[in-house]
Order: sequence, then structure tokens, then C-alpha cells
Amino acid sequence: ALDKEQMQGLRGIREFLKVRTSYDVLPLSFRLVVLDNELLIRKSLNILIQNGIVSAPLWDSSNSTFAGLLTSTDYINVIQYYCQFPDEIDQVDKFRLSSLRDIERAIGVLPLETVSVHPMRPLYEACRRMLKTRARRIPLVDVDDETGREMVVSVITQYRILKFIAVNNEKHTILLKKSVRELGLGTYSNLATADMNSSVLDVIHLMVKHNISAVPIIDKGNKVLNVFEAVDVIPCIKGGAYDELASSVGEALSKRADDFPGIYTCNEDDRLDAIFETIRKSRVHRLIVVDDNNQLRGIISLSDILKHVLLFGEEEDNIRAG
Ligand code: ATP
Repeated sequence: ALDKEQMQGLRGIREFLKVRTSYDVLPLSFRLVVLDNELLIRKSLNILIQNGIVSAPLWDSSNSTFAGLLTSTDYINVIQYYCQFPDEIDQVDKFRLSSLRDIERAIGVLPLETVSVHPMRPLYEACRRMLKTRARRIPLVDVDDETGREMVVSVITQYRILKFIAVNNEKHTILLKKSVRELGLGTYSNLATADMNSSVLDVIHLMVKHNISAVPIIDKGNKVLNVFEAVDVIPCIKGGAYDELASSVGEALSKRADDFPGIYTCNEDDRLDAIFETIRKSRVHRLIVVDDNNQLRGIISLSDILKHVLLFGEEEDNIRAG
């Protein structure tokens, strides 16, 4: 019966996502900080920090086009560049946002696929696109009727989508009574972790190697003390002090903004409905799964949740429908 209810809840949410658009997710009024591609990378850091944001669309004013999305991954690429070419620190200081593609090439990482969606397309499409490309945020790009030019309306994130589901779908989310353990939700093996004395650089290398954006910080007894997130690198390199990346995670975490939302934990016996309750109430970007002694068990990313909501039992559904 639990299985049946769970599927009923998931189907309800999927139907909801098919009749809503990305535009519906946006708040009634919002501001969008767009950065000019010719801005110095060094200066972009301060602008993000001053505005309390961790990402922004880029604008190429030479030909009035959307030029991609600036995220913490770009800063991590700059750090990798600095590590590979330490003698070029003066150069790093002069890089502009438009140099980001050259930096990717120099350090040999593949550029992220730039996907965008039209704001009036079904939200379900944006979700599928996110899971397929592993993009955590997708710009909503529209075309101006009069000028025929592209405009970035906003950016949609996994967090915003899950929040939208949590707030508007209580009648479906309360049906999700299966526990994290029963669903196998999240990752429980080969966890990438670090301790308070690890250097920030070590943790960044871990994130790059595992293609993840958060590393739990644990003590000798495997107890969770904190989580270092990709966005935490932004204040670390703010003053151009790349040599400070050799300092400890503990020190870096003390630089977090006062309004840092905190880290969220859950238990393997918690049910998915409770997780949606947490998402409804707070600014959750991932859940660290701990046992009763606060020892690390696993990690549930927003994409793990989105994947479950969209894909769990999908094949059976299609067979039944077909
Ligand atoms: P985000 O929260 O921005 O989506 P993320 O890197 O934590 O970032 P995903 O890209 O969704 O999340 O993670 C991919 C997979 O890696 C997920 O299945 C997640 O459970 C797992 N994962 C996340 N962090 C770790 C970690 N520190 N160690 C091992 N696996 C992890």
C-alpha cells in the first residue's frame, strides 16, 4: 500500500510539473544581476558577495547576446589554473569573465554544455533537461518580439523547483511515506570527506575529482562537524589571495556570511514527506544523512531528490501507459 501511495504522490507531482511552466516558479517580483562579460573576474567576486548571490548570467555587450552562466565552478577552474600555472598569478588578476573559456581550455576541462529553456515551456521539460545535462541551474531565455534579441529572464535552479513543488503540492508530498532507507535515496558509499585541518585546496581537488559540490567535514570519530560547499570558495579568493587556499577548511568556514542558512541533516528512517517539509520551510541545498550518534552515513543532493521525483518507477509507468 505504501508503494502504491508513493507512486500516486509521485505521479501527482509529475502531472503538476507538466501543467506549470518555468515562468510560474519565479516570484512575482525579483531582481536579476547580469554581469558584463568584460568585467574582471576579480571584480565579479565582490559583486556576487555584495549582492548575496553565488551565480549570475553573463552578457556580451559587443553583440548583445547571452554569454553563459557564471557559477562557482568557474572560480574553481580559475583556482585550478592558478595551481597549474603558479607563475602566472599576475595574469590571473587580469582575467576577465570572457577569459573563462580560455581558462577551461588551458586546464583541460570540458566546457559545460550551455542549455537554456524558454520560460513558457512546461516545468517538466526544464527538470528533465537538468537531470540529463547535470546542470544545477538553467537560464530562462526568451526572445524579444520587437528586436528579435535574446533576453535572460531569470535562472531556474533545482532548489527553486523543489521548493515550488514543496510549497504547492502538499496534497501529493504527504503521500511520500517511504523512508530514505527504503528508497535508497542518496549516496552511501565512497563518500568524499575531509577534516577541519584539510586545506581548502585539498577539498577543492576532491570536489573536482568526484564532480560534486559539497564535502562533509568530519572528526576522527566520523561525526559530522560541517560541510564545505563549492560556493564557499568565493569568499576565500575574494581579495585575490590565492595563496590563502593553503589554509585550513576550519579557517575558511569561519568566513561564511552571517546569513549562512546552515547545514541540514536527516536520518535514514526519515520519510520523503518529511524531507519535503524541510524543503518547504528552509533553504536546503543538500541533506547530510547521519545516524543517532551524528556519525556520517550518506549524502542526499537535490539532484538525488529531483531524480526520484521524476524518474522513479518511470519505466513501469510507460509500460502501463503503452
Ligand atoms: P548539488 O547539491 O549542487 O546538486 P552535488 O555535487 O552535491 O551538488 P550532485 O551533482 O547532484 O550533487 O551529486 C551527484 C551525486 O554525487 C549525487 O548522487 C550525490 O548523492 C553524490 N554526492 C554528493 N556529494 C558527495 C560526496 N561528498 N561524496 C560522495 N558522493 C557525493
